[in-house]
Amino acid sequence: MTRLGKMERELLKSARSKQATVLYPFTKEGLNIPEGLRGKWVYKHPDACTGCKICERVCPAEAIEMIACRPDDVQTKTGFRPICHFDRCILCGQCVESCPRNVLELSGEFEMAYLSREDMIME
Ligand code: SF4
Ligand code: SF4
Repeated sequence: MTRLGKMERELLKSARSKQATVLYPFTKEGLNIPEGLRGKWVYKHPDACTGCKICERVCPAEAIEMIACRPDDVQTKTGFRPICHFDRCILCGQCVESCPRNVLELSGEFEMAYLSREDMIME
């Protein structure tokens, strides 16, 4: 009887073990999204925003732009509010950490495939 080599043993072991990968994006079944995943951030509490521009200043990717509040927006103290260019954002979470009013919040949203840069602007 021939003895199995190291490689054959490994092959047999993986043939018997549970599938380690998921057929994402065709299915999300079995996808384990870790808690605390730094996904897209959201402008969660716009009414608390003062327009201080700290988020814009700390962003290492220059992804945040402060724009003038429009008449139908929640008006901030300075008259400006942040928008994000997610095509530049590296999801570091620095803006969320630095906001003194906890206006921004990281979501677990990681599906960010868009057809144009305009679609990647979060207003
Ligand atoms: S989101 Fe926070 S850091 Fe950014 S302008 Fe508003 S209050 Fe300032
Ligand atoms: S998560 Fe990081 S890169 Fe993205 S907008 Fe905030 S500070 Fe900028």
